[in-house]
Amino acid sequence: MTAEAEKPKQVHRVLRDVWGYDTFRPLQEESIDCVLGGRDSLTVLPTGGGKSLCFQVPALCHDGMAVVVSPLISLMKDQVDSLLACGVSAAFVNSTQSDDEKREVADRIRSGELKLLYVAPERLLAARTLDFLRQQNISFFAIDEAHCISNWGHDFRPEYRGLRMLKDQFPKASVHAYTATASESVRDDIASQLGLRKPEIIVGDFDRPNLTYRMIRADGRLGQVIDVVGRHRGESGVVYCISRKEVEKTAAALVAGGTSALPYHAGLDDSIRKANQDAFIKDKCDVIVATVAFGMGIDKSNVRYVVHAGMPKSIEHYQQESGRAGRDGLESECVLFYSGGDVVTWKKIMESEPSSYQAAVASLDAMFNVCAGTVCRHRSLVQYFGQSHAADNCGACDVCLDEIDLVDDPITLSQKILSCVIRLRERFGVGHTAKVLCGSGEQRIRELGHDKLSTYGLLTKDGLPAVRMWIDQLVQQEYLCRSGEYQTLSLTDAGRRLLRRDGDPRLSVATPTRRSGKSRSP
Ligand code: ADP
Ligand code: ZN
Repeated sequence: MTAEAEKPKQVHRVLRDVWGYDTFRPLQEESIDCVLGGRDSLTVLPTGGGKSLCFQVPALCHDGMAVVVSPLISLMKDQVDSLLACGVSAAFVNSTQSDDEKREVADRIRSGELKLLYVAPERLLAARTLDFLRQQNISFFAIDEAHCISNWGHDFRPEYRGLRMLKDQFPKASVHAYTATASESVRDDIASQLGLRKPEIIVGDFDRPNLTYRMIRADGRLGQVIDVVGRHRGESGVVYCISRKEVEKTAAALVAGGTSALPYHAGLDDSIRKANQDAFIKDKCDVIVATVAFGMGIDKSNVRYVVHAGMPKSIEHYQQESGRAGRDGLESECVLFYSGGDVVTWKKIMESEPSSYQAAVASLDAMFNVCAGTVCRHRSLVQYFGQSHAADNCGACDVCLDEIDLVDDPITLSQKILSCVIRLRERFGVGHTAKVLCGSGEQRIRELGHDKLSTYGLLTKDGLPAVRMWIDQLVQQEYLCRSGEYQTLSLTDAGRRLLRRDGDPRLSVATPTRRSGKSRSP
Protein backbone atom coordinates (compact mmCIF):
# COMPACT_ATOMS: atom_id res chain seq x y z
CA MET A 1 0.00 0.00 0.00
CA THR A 2 1.26 3.49 -0.79
CA ALA A 3 1.92 6.04 1.91
CA GLU A 4 -0.90 8.17 0.47
CA ALA A 5 -3.45 5.43 1.00
CA GLU A 6 -2.29 4.78 4.50
CA LYS A 7 -2.52 8.37 5.63
CA PRO A 8 -6.30 8.55 6.02
CA LYS A 9 -6.22 5.38 8.03
CA GLN A 10 -3.76 6.89 10.43
CA VAL A 11 -5.76 10.06 11.03
CA HIS A 12 -8.92 8.06 11.64
CA ARG A 13 -7.08 5.82 14.06
CA VAL A 14 -5.76 8.83 15.95
CA LEU A 15 -9.23 10.38 16.04
CA ARG A 16 -10.70 7.21 17.49
CA ASP A 17 -7.92 6.11 19.79
CA VAL A 18 -7.03 9.49 21.25
CA TRP A 19 -10.33 11.39 21.20
CA GLY A 20 -12.83 8.55 20.98
CA TYR A 21 -14.65 10.11 17.98
CA ASP A 22 -15.77 7.99 15.03
CA THR A 23 -16.06 10.54 12.27
CA PHE A 24 -14.68 13.88 11.30
CA ARG A 25 -16.86 16.94 11.23
CA PRO A 26 -17.29 18.69 7.87
CA LEU A 27 -13.98 19.90 6.41
CA GLN A 28 -11.83 18.72 9.30
CA GLU A 29 -10.26 16.08 7.10
CA GLU A 30 -9.60 18.50 4.25
CA SER A 31 -7.96 20.86 6.69
CA ILE A 32 -5.86 18.07 8.19
CA ASP A 33 -4.75 16.99 4.71
CA CYS A 34 -3.23 20.42 4.12
CA VAL A 35 -1.14 20.09 7.25
CA LEU A 36 0.00 16.60 6.42
CA GLY A 37 0.80 17.67 2.88
CA GLY A 38 2.89 20.58 4.17
CA ARG A 39 0.77 23.09 2.27
CA ASP A 40 0.08 26.45 3.89
CA SER A 41 -3.61 26.83 4.65
CA LEU A 42 -6.35 28.93 6.15
CA THR A 43 -9.31 27.12 7.70
CA VAL A 44 -12.47 29.08 8.44
CA LEU A 45 -15.01 27.12 10.46
CA PRO A 46 -17.81 28.53 12.58
CA THR A 47 -17.52 28.50 16.35
CA GLY A 48 -17.93 24.94 17.53
CA GLY A 49 -16.95 23.57 14.13
CA GLY A 50 -13.97 21.76 15.62
CA LYS A 51 -10.97 23.79 14.54
CA SER A 52 -8.67 22.56 17.31
CA LEU A 53 -8.70 18.99 16.02
CA CYS A 54 -7.64 20.27 12.61
CA PHE A 55 -4.16 20.91 13.98
CA GLN A 56 -4.13 18.56 16.96
CA VAL A 57 -4.70 15.39 14.93
CA PRO A 58 -1.95 16.05 12.37
CA ALA A 59 0.42 17.09 15.15
CA LEU A 60 0.20 13.50 16.39
CA CYS A 61 0.68 12.03 12.90
CA HIS A 62 3.79 14.11 12.16
CA ASP A 63 7.37 13.78 13.29
CA GLY A 64 8.51 16.59 15.52
CA MET A 65 6.55 19.18 17.46
CA ALA A 66 3.76 21.51 16.32
CA VAL A 67 3.79 25.08 17.61
CA VAL A 68 0.33 26.55 18.27
CA VAL A 69 -0.01 30.32 18.55
CA SER A 70 -2.91 31.36 20.73
CA PRO A 71 -3.88 34.83 21.97
CA LEU A 72 -5.11 34.08 25.48
CA ILE A 73 -3.50 32.33 28.42
CA SER A 74 -6.86 30.89 29.47
CA LEU A 75 -7.44 29.40 26.03
CA MET A 76 -4.02 27.79 26.02
CA LYS A 77 -4.51 26.33 29.43
CA ASP A 78 -7.92 24.85 28.54
CA GLN A 79 -6.59 23.24 25.39
CA VAL A 80 -3.49 21.84 27.02
CA ASP A 81 -5.55 20.48 29.92
CA SER A 82 -7.91 18.68 27.59
CA LEU A 83 -5.01 17.30 25.53
CA LEU A 84 -3.34 15.99 28.67
CA ALA A 85 -6.64 14.38 29.64
CA CYS A 86 -6.54 12.51 26.30
CA GLY A 87 -2.98 11.41 27.01
CA VAL A 88 -1.34 13.75 24.49
CA SER A 89 2.04 15.24 25.32
CA ALA A 90 1.33 18.99 25.24
CA ALA A 91 2.51 22.07 27.12
CA PHE A 92 2.37 25.83 27.04
CA VAL A 93 4.86 28.54 27.81
CA ASN A 94 3.62 31.86 29.13
CA SER A 95 4.25 34.60 31.62
CA THR A 96 2.38 32.89 34.47
CA GLN A 97 5.05 30.19 34.74
CA SER A 98 8.05 30.14 37.06
CA ASP A 99 11.57 29.78 35.63
CA ASP A 100 11.60 26.18 36.79
CA GLU A 101 8.42 25.40 34.93
CA LYS A 102 9.76 27.02 31.78
CA ARG A 103 12.98 25.04 32.06
CA GLU A 104 11.02 21.83 32.40
CA VAL A 105 9.10 22.59 29.20
CA ALA A 106 12.37 23.35 27.40
CA ASP A 107 13.76 19.99 28.51
CA ARG A 108 10.71 18.19 27.17
CA ILE A 109 11.10 19.98 23.84
CA ARG A 110 14.78 19.06 23.62
CA SER A 111 14.07 15.42 24.36
CA GLY A 112 11.70 15.37 21.39
CA GLU A 113 8.87 14.09 23.55
CA LEU A 114 6.48 17.05 23.19
CA LYS A 115 3.96 16.95 20.30
CA LEU A 116 2.21 20.30 20.78
CA LEU A 117 3.57 23.52 22.23
CA TYR A 118 1.17 26.41 22.88
CA VAL A 119 2.65 29.87 22.98
CA ALA A 120 1.53 33.49 22.85
CA PRO A 121 2.80 35.45 19.82
CA GLU A 122 4.94 37.91 21.77
CA ARG A 123 6.66 35.03 23.55
CA LEU A 124 7.22 33.08 20.33
CA LEU A 125 8.72 36.10 18.59
CA ALA A 126 11.23 36.85 21.33
CA ALA A 127 14.73 36.34 19.88
CA ARG A 128 15.64 33.75 22.51
CA THR A 129 12.59 31.61 21.76
CA LEU A 130 13.16 31.78 18.03
CA ASP A 131 16.84 30.81 18.42
CA PHE A 132 15.87 27.90 20.60
CA LEU A 133 13.07 26.67 18.36
CA ARG A 134 15.20 26.86 15.23
CA GLN A 135 17.33 24.09 16.70
CA GLN A 136 14.32 21.86 17.29
CA ASN A 137 12.32 19.66 14.94
CA ILE A 138 9.23 21.79 14.28
CA SER A 139 6.56 20.01 12.26
CA PHE A 140 4.36 23.04 11.53
CA PHE A 141 2.89 26.23 12.95
CA ALA A 142 -0.81 26.57 13.75
CA ILE A 143 -2.12 30.12 14.21
CA ASP A 144 -5.33 29.95 16.24
CA GLU A 145 -7.80 32.88 16.22
CA ALA A 146 -5.95 34.09 13.15
CA HIS A 147 -8.31 37.04 12.55
CA CYS A 148 -6.33 38.77 15.33
CA ILE A 149 -3.69 39.54 12.67
CA SER A 150 -6.07 41.68 10.60
CA ASN A 151 -7.20 45.14 11.57
CA TRP A 152 -10.10 44.56 9.23
CA GLY A 153 -11.25 41.90 11.64
CA HIS A 154 -12.93 42.39 14.96
CA ASP A 155 -10.18 41.62 17.42
CA PHE A 156 -6.94 43.07 16.09
CA ARG A 157 -3.89 42.29 18.20
CA PRO A 158 -0.73 44.10 17.07
CA GLU A 159 1.48 41.35 18.49
CA TYR A 160 0.05 38.99 15.83
CA ARG A 161 1.57 41.12 13.06
CA GLY A 162 5.07 39.85 13.81
CA LEU A 163 4.03 36.30 12.93
CA ARG A 164 4.83 37.12 9.34
CA MET A 165 8.47 36.38 10.07
CA LEU A 166 7.73 32.70 10.67
CA LYS A 167 7.79 31.99 6.95
CA ASP A 168 11.31 33.46 6.72
CA GLN A 169 12.69 32.06 9.94
CA PHE A 170 11.36 28.54 9.42
CA PRO A 171 11.34 28.06 5.66
CA LYS A 172 10.72 24.34 5.93
CA ALA A 173 7.72 24.45 8.27
CA SER A 174 4.27 25.07 6.84
CA VAL A 175 2.00 27.65 8.46
CA HIS A 176 -1.71 27.05 9.04
CA ALA A 177 -4.21 29.64 10.17
CA TYR A 178 -7.59 29.02 11.85
CA THR A 179 -10.45 31.36 12.55
CA ALA A 180 -14.21 31.33 13.09
CA THR A 181 -14.94 34.65 11.61
CA ALA A 182 -13.73 35.96 8.34
CA SER A 183 -15.42 37.84 5.59
CA GLU A 184 -13.70 37.51 2.26
CA SER A 185 -11.59 40.62 2.78
CA VAL A 186 -10.45 39.53 6.24
CA ARG A 187 -9.68 36.09 4.84
CA ASP A 188 -7.41 37.55 2.14
CA ASP A 189 -5.83 39.88 4.65
CA ILE A 190 -4.95 37.00 7.00
CA ALA A 191 -3.28 35.06 4.19
CA SER A 192 -1.28 38.04 3.02
CA GLN A 193 -0.33 39.30 6.50
CA LEU A 194 1.04 35.86 7.37
CA GLY A 195 2.82 35.64 4.03
CA LEU A 196 1.23 32.25 3.34
CA ARG A 197 2.48 30.62 0.14
CA LYS A 198 -0.27 29.57 -2.25
CA PRO A 199 -2.49 28.73 0.68
CA GLU A 200 -5.35 26.29 0.49
CA ILE A 201 -8.39 28.15 1.82
CA ILE A 202 -11.07 26.02 3.42
CA VAL A 203 -14.34 27.66 4.38
CA GLY A 204 -17.05 25.85 6.31
CA ASP A 205 -20.79 26.32 6.25
CA PHE A 206 -21.68 29.32 8.36
CA ASP A 207 -25.39 28.80 8.60
CA ARG A 208 -26.67 27.69 11.97
CA PRO A 209 -30.08 26.24 11.10
CA ASN A 210 -30.95 25.44 14.72
CA LEU A 211 -30.82 29.13 15.69
CA THR A 212 -33.90 31.33 15.33
CA TYR A 213 -32.87 34.94 14.79
CA ARG A 214 -34.90 37.98 15.70
CA MET A 215 -33.68 41.55 15.18
CA ILE A 216 -36.04 44.04 16.74
CA ARG A 217 -35.93 47.81 17.04
CA ALA A 218 -35.16 48.81 20.62
CA ASP A 219 -38.15 50.37 22.32
CA GLY A 220 -37.78 50.28 26.07
CA ARG A 221 -34.78 47.99 25.89
CA LEU A 222 -34.61 46.76 29.45
CA GLY A 223 -38.24 45.67 29.38
CA GLN A 224 -37.72 43.92 26.06
CA VAL A 225 -34.71 42.03 27.43
CA ILE A 226 -36.61 41.02 30.56
CA ASP A 227 -39.45 39.70 28.35
CA VAL A 228 -37.11 37.44 26.40
CA VAL A 229 -35.39 36.12 29.51
CA GLY A 230 -38.84 35.59 31.03
CA ARG A 231 -39.99 33.26 28.32
CA HIS A 232 -36.81 31.18 28.74
CA ARG A 233 -37.19 30.76 32.49
CA GLY A 234 -34.89 28.09 33.88
CA GLU A 235 -32.86 27.83 30.69
CA SER A 236 -29.26 28.83 30.16
CA GLY A 237 -28.80 32.18 28.39
CA VAL A 238 -26.35 34.98 27.69
CA VAL A 239 -27.32 38.68 27.59
CA TYR A 240 -24.79 40.92 25.86
CA CYS A 241 -24.68 44.66 26.61
CA ILE A 242 -22.49 47.32 25.04
CA SER A 243 -21.30 48.94 28.28
CA ARG A 244 -20.33 47.78 31.75
CA LYS A 245 -22.91 50.10 33.24
CA GLU A 246 -25.66 48.45 31.26
CA VAL A 247 -24.39 45.03 32.31
CA GLU A 248 -24.74 46.00 35.97
CA LYS A 249 -28.15 47.60 35.47
CA THR A 250 -29.54 44.68 33.48
CA ALA A 251 -28.18 42.02 35.82
CA ALA A 252 -29.65 43.85 38.80
CA ALA A 253 -33.05 44.14 37.12
CA LEU A 254 -33.09 40.44 36.25
CA VAL A 255 -32.11 39.45 39.78
CA ALA A 256 -34.81 41.74 41.18
CA GLY A 257 -37.28 39.88 38.98
CA GLY A 258 -36.24 36.55 40.46
CA THR A 259 -33.87 35.33 37.71
CA SER A 260 -30.55 33.85 38.72
CA ALA A 261 -28.24 36.15 36.78
CA LEU A 262 -24.62 37.24 37.22
CA PRO A 263 -22.62 40.06 35.62
CA TYR A 264 -19.40 39.64 33.64
CA HIS A 265 -17.19 42.46 32.38
CA ALA A 266 -13.57 43.56 32.38
CA GLY A 267 -14.17 46.04 35.21
CA LEU A 268 -14.87 43.26 37.72
CA ASP A 269 -12.19 41.74 39.90
CA ASP A 270 -10.50 38.78 38.22
CA SER A 271 -11.66 36.45 40.97
CA ILE A 272 -15.30 37.56 40.74
CA ARG A 273 -15.28 37.36 36.98
CA LYS A 274 -13.85 33.87 37.06
CA ALA A 275 -16.33 32.77 39.75
CA ASN A 276 -19.29 34.13 37.77
CA GLN A 277 -18.14 32.44 34.60
CA ASP A 278 -17.67 29.13 36.43
CA ALA A 279 -21.11 29.40 38.01
CA PHE A 280 -22.63 29.83 34.57
CA ILE A 281 -20.65 27.03 32.95
CA LYS A 282 -21.53 24.63 35.78
CA ASP A 283 -25.24 25.55 35.52
CA LYS A 284 -25.24 27.15 38.97
CA CYS A 285 -26.75 30.31 37.49
CA ASP A 286 -29.06 30.60 34.49
CA VAL A 287 -28.07 33.87 32.91
CA ILE A 288 -24.78 35.65 32.44
CA VAL A 289 -25.05 39.34 31.57
CA ALA A 290 -21.86 40.38 29.84
CA THR A 291 -19.89 42.69 27.62
CA VAL A 292 -17.97 41.30 24.65
CA ALA A 293 -15.24 40.42 27.13
CA PHE A 294 -17.21 37.23 27.76
CA GLY A 295 -16.97 34.16 25.67
CA MET A 296 -13.74 33.55 23.85
CA GLY A 297 -12.92 29.90 24.32
CA ILE A 298 -16.11 29.11 26.21
CA ASP A 299 -17.44 25.72 25.21
CA LYS A 300 -20.85 25.43 26.92
CA SER A 301 -23.20 23.40 24.81
CA ASN A 302 -26.63 23.98 26.37
CA VAL A 303 -26.99 27.75 25.96
CA ARG A 304 -30.64 28.03 24.82
CA TYR A 305 -30.70 31.73 23.98
CA VAL A 306 -28.49 34.77 23.44
CA VAL A 307 -29.90 38.28 23.77
CA HIS A 308 -28.15 41.37 22.48
CA ALA A 309 -29.43 44.33 24.47
CA GLY A 310 -27.59 46.54 21.99
CA MET A 311 -26.27 46.09 18.50
CA PRO A 312 -22.80 44.51 18.21
CA LYS A 313 -20.23 46.50 16.27
CA SER A 314 -19.82 43.98 13.45
CA ILE A 315 -21.41 40.94 11.86
CA GLU A 316 -18.32 38.98 12.86
CA HIS A 317 -19.02 39.80 16.49
CA TYR A 318 -22.67 38.94 16.09
CA GLN A 319 -21.90 35.61 14.44
CA GLN A 320 -19.49 34.68 17.19
CA GLU A 321 -21.64 35.85 20.11
CA SER A 322 -24.98 34.53 18.84
CA GLY A 323 -23.12 31.35 17.85
CA ARG A 324 -22.68 30.50 21.52
CA ALA A 325 -26.33 29.45 21.53
CA GLY A 326 -27.26 25.92 20.58
CA ARG A 327 -23.85 24.36 20.23
CA ASP A 328 -25.51 21.04 21.05
CA GLY A 329 -27.50 21.37 17.83
CA LEU A 330 -30.85 21.85 19.62
CA GLU A 331 -33.17 24.72 18.74
CA SER A 332 -32.15 27.99 20.35
CA GLU A 333 -33.13 31.62 20.03
CA CYS A 334 -31.04 34.71 19.30
CA VAL A 335 -32.72 38.08 19.83
CA LEU A 336 -31.01 41.36 19.02
CA PHE A 337 -32.36 44.80 19.97
CA TYR A 338 -30.93 47.64 17.91
CA SER A 339 -31.37 51.33 17.26
CA GLY A 340 -29.74 54.10 15.29
CA GLY A 341 -28.46 55.29 18.68
CA ASP A 342 -26.33 52.15 18.95
CA VAL A 343 -24.55 53.18 15.76
CA VAL A 344 -23.80 56.58 17.27
CA THR A 345 -22.56 54.99 20.50
CA TRP A 346 -20.16 52.73 18.61
CA LYS A 347 -18.87 55.55 16.42
CA LYS A 348 -17.99 57.52 19.52
CA ILE A 349 -16.08 54.54 20.90
CA MET A 350 -14.35 53.97 17.55
CA GLU A 351 -13.19 57.57 17.25
CA SER A 352 -10.51 56.83 19.83
CA GLU A 353 -8.80 54.61 17.22
CA PRO A 354 -8.50 56.78 14.12
CA SER A 355 -6.19 54.32 12.32
CA SER A 356 -8.88 51.69 11.94
CA TYR A 357 -11.90 54.02 11.99
CA GLN A 358 -12.94 53.60 8.37
CA ALA A 359 -12.89 49.81 8.41
CA ALA A 360 -14.69 49.79 11.73
CA VAL A 361 -17.47 52.04 10.46
CA ALA A 362 -17.90 49.86 7.37
CA SER A 363 -18.34 46.80 9.61
CA LEU A 364 -20.76 48.71 11.80
CA ASP A 365 -22.86 49.80 8.80
CA ALA A 366 -22.99 46.24 7.51
CA MET A 367 -24.35 45.09 10.87
CA PHE A 368 -26.95 47.86 10.94
CA ASN A 369 -28.04 47.03 7.41
CA VAL A 370 -28.75 43.45 8.36
CA CYS A 371 -30.77 44.60 11.39
CA ALA A 372 -32.75 47.24 9.54
CA GLY A 373 -33.10 45.01 6.50
CA THR A 374 -36.08 42.87 5.64
CA VAL A 375 -34.10 40.01 4.16
CA CYS A 376 -34.07 36.57 5.82
CA ARG A 377 -31.56 36.81 8.71
CA HIS A 378 -30.01 33.44 7.94
CA ARG A 379 -29.51 34.55 4.37
CA SER A 380 -28.08 37.98 5.25
CA LEU A 381 -25.59 36.49 7.68
CA VAL A 382 -24.22 33.75 5.42
CA GLN A 383 -24.15 36.12 2.44
CA TYR A 384 -21.90 38.39 4.42
CA PHE A 385 -19.51 35.47 4.80
CA GLY A 386 -19.58 34.92 1.04
CA GLN A 387 -21.97 31.99 1.02
CA SER A 388 -25.41 31.51 -0.45
CA HIS A 389 -28.51 30.28 1.32
CA ALA A 390 -30.85 28.11 -0.64
CA ALA A 391 -34.11 28.10 1.31
CA ASP A 392 -36.76 30.64 0.29
CA ASN A 393 -38.25 30.61 3.74
CA CYS A 394 -35.92 29.50 6.52
CA GLY A 395 -38.76 29.25 9.03
CA ALA A 396 -36.34 30.38 11.71
CA CYS A 397 -36.08 34.15 11.64
CA ASP A 398 -38.42 37.05 12.32
CA VAL A 399 -38.50 37.96 8.62
CA CYS A 400 -39.51 34.49 7.41
CA LEU A 401 -41.85 34.02 10.37
CA ASP A 402 -43.64 37.16 9.25
CA GLU A 403 -43.08 39.06 12.48
CA ILE A 404 -41.78 42.22 10.81
CA ASP A 405 -44.24 45.03 10.14
CA LEU A 406 -44.06 45.94 6.47
CA VAL A 407 -45.46 49.02 4.76
CA ASP A 408 -48.75 48.40 2.96
CA ASP A 409 -47.83 49.67 -0.47
CA PRO A 410 -44.09 49.19 -0.88
CA ILE A 411 -44.18 49.57 -4.66
CA THR A 412 -45.54 53.13 -4.65
CA LEU A 413 -43.16 54.09 -1.88
CA SER A 414 -40.22 52.55 -3.77
CA GLN A 415 -41.25 54.37 -6.94
CA LYS A 416 -41.05 57.71 -5.14
CA ILE A 417 -37.56 56.92 -3.93
CA LEU A 418 -36.31 55.53 -7.24
CA SER A 419 -37.73 58.50 -9.16
CA CYS A 420 -35.85 60.84 -6.88
CA VAL A 421 -32.60 58.95 -7.53
CA ILE A 422 -33.24 59.40 -11.27
CA ARG A 423 -34.12 63.11 -10.89
CA LEU A 424 -30.77 63.46 -9.12
CA ARG A 425 -29.24 61.89 -12.26
CA GLU A 426 -27.85 59.02 -10.17
CA ARG A 427 -25.07 61.26 -8.92
CA PHE A 428 -25.79 61.54 -5.18
CA GLY A 429 -25.53 59.33 -2.11
CA VAL A 430 -28.02 58.09 0.48
CA GLY A 431 -27.83 61.14 2.75
CA HIS A 432 -28.48 63.74 0.07
CA THR A 433 -31.22 61.73 -1.62
CA ALA A 434 -33.01 61.24 1.69
CA LYS A 435 -32.79 64.97 2.45
CA VAL A 436 -34.31 65.87 -0.92
CA LEU A 437 -37.16 63.42 -0.36
CA CYS A 438 -37.72 64.89 3.09
CA GLY A 439 -37.76 68.47 1.83
CA SER A 440 -34.67 69.58 3.73
CA GLY A 441 -34.08 73.33 3.79
CA GLU A 442 -30.32 72.91 3.63
CA GLN A 443 -28.52 75.57 1.63
CA ARG A 444 -26.66 73.07 -0.54
CA ILE A 445 -29.96 71.63 -1.74
CA ARG A 446 -31.20 75.07 -2.76
CA GLU A 447 -27.89 75.91 -4.43
CA LEU A 448 -28.14 72.77 -6.52
CA GLY A 449 -31.74 73.59 -7.36
CA HIS A 450 -32.86 70.28 -5.88
CA ASP A 451 -35.72 71.99 -4.06
CA LYS A 452 -37.26 72.48 -7.50
CA LEU A 453 -37.38 68.75 -8.28
CA SER A 454 -40.81 67.13 -8.49
CA THR A 455 -39.74 64.57 -5.86
CA TYR A 456 -38.61 67.24 -3.36
CA GLY A 457 -40.46 66.82 -0.08
CA LEU A 458 -42.45 63.76 -1.21
CA LEU A 459 -41.71 61.90 2.02
CA THR A 460 -41.41 64.78 4.47
CA LYS A 461 -43.94 63.32 6.86
CA ASP A 462 -42.02 60.03 7.16
CA GLY A 463 -38.85 61.67 8.45
CA LEU A 464 -35.19 61.28 7.57
CA PRO A 465 -34.37 58.09 9.55
CA ALA A 466 -37.23 56.16 7.90
CA VAL A 467 -36.32 57.32 4.42
CA ARG A 468 -32.67 56.41 4.94
CA MET A 469 -33.74 53.00 6.18
CA TRP A 470 -35.90 52.42 3.09
CA ILE A 471 -33.07 53.43 0.78
CA ASP A 472 -30.80 50.99 2.63
CA GLN A 473 -33.44 48.29 2.22
CA LEU A 474 -33.74 48.97 -1.51
CA VAL A 475 -29.95 48.71 -1.77
CA GLN A 476 -29.96 45.48 0.17
CA GLN A 477 -32.66 44.06 -2.07
CA GLU A 478 -30.68 45.16 -5.12
CA TYR A 479 -33.14 47.63 -6.59
CA LEU A 480 -30.52 50.33 -5.98
CA CYS A 481 -26.79 50.06 -5.87
CA ARG A 482 -24.15 52.24 -4.28
CA SER A 483 -20.89 52.71 -6.13
CA GLY A 484 -17.79 54.75 -6.53
CA GLU A 485 -15.78 56.84 -4.13
CA TYR A 486 -18.86 58.82 -3.10
CA GLN A 487 -21.16 55.81 -2.86
CA THR A 488 -23.60 57.39 -5.28
CA LEU A 489 -26.96 55.71 -5.75
CA SER A 490 -28.10 54.34 -9.07
CA LEU A 491 -30.84 52.01 -10.24
CA THR A 492 -30.17 48.39 -11.06
CA ASP A 493 -32.08 46.62 -13.83
CA ALA A 494 -34.48 45.34 -11.19
CA GLY A 495 -34.88 48.94 -10.01
CA ARG A 496 -35.83 50.07 -13.52
CA ARG A 497 -38.39 47.29 -13.76
CA LEU A 498 -39.77 48.33 -10.38
CA LEU A 499 -40.47 51.79 -11.78
CA ARG A 500 -42.94 49.98 -14.04
CA ARG A 501 -44.40 48.29 -10.94
CA ASP A 502 -42.67 45.02 -11.71
CA GLY A 503 -41.03 43.77 -8.50
CA ASP A 504 -41.59 42.73 -4.91
CA PRO A 505 -39.75 45.09 -2.54
CA ARG A 506 -40.14 44.70 1.21
CA LEU A 507 -39.93 47.88 3.26
CA SER A 508 -40.49 47.91 6.99
CA VAL A 509 -42.52 50.50 8.85
CA ALA A 510 -40.40 53.06 10.62
CA THR A 511 -41.66 52.66 14.18
CA PRO A 512 -43.16 49.23 14.30
CA THR A 513 -45.79 48.41 16.83
CA ARG A 514 -44.15 46.00 19.17
CA ARG A 515 -44.76 42.32 18.74
CA SER A 516 -43.77 39.82 21.34
CA GLY A 517 -42.31 37.30 18.93
CA LYS A 518 -43.98 34.50 20.82
CA SER A 519 -45.17 32.69 17.74
CA ARG A 520 -42.29 30.28 17.84
CA SER A 521 -40.76 29.92 21.26
CA PRO A 522 -37.96 27.41 20.83
P1 ADP B 1 -13.91 25.63 17.58
O1 ADP B 1 -12.51 25.91 18.06
O2 ADP B 1 -14.00 25.49 16.09
O3 ADP B 1 -14.93 26.57 18.14
P2 ADP B 1 -13.55 23.23 19.08
O4 ADP B 1 -12.28 22.81 18.47
O5 ADP B 1 -13.49 23.86 20.44
O6 ADP B 1 -14.34 24.20 18.11
O7 ADP B 1 -14.56 22.00 19.09
C1 ADP B 1 -15.85 22.15 19.61
C2 ADP B 1 -16.28 20.85 20.24
O8 ADP B 1 -16.50 19.85 19.26
C3 ADP B 1 -15.23 20.28 21.19
O9 ADP B 1 -15.88 19.83 22.35
C4 ADP B 1 -14.63 19.12 20.41
O10 ADP B 1 -14.14 18.12 21.25
C5 ADP B 1 -15.81 18.64 19.59
N1 ADP B 1 -15.38 17.98 18.34
C6 ADP B 1 -14.48 18.43 17.46
N2 ADP B 1 -14.33 17.57 16.42
C7 ADP B 1 -15.17 16.55 16.65
C8 ADP B 1 -15.50 15.34 15.94
N3 ADP B 1 -14.92 15.02 14.77
N4 ADP B 1 -16.42 14.53 16.48
C9 ADP B 1 -17.03 14.85 17.64
N5 ADP B 1 -16.76 15.96 18.35
C10 ADP B 1 -15.85 16.80 17.88
ZN1 ZN C 1 -35.34 33.52 7.37
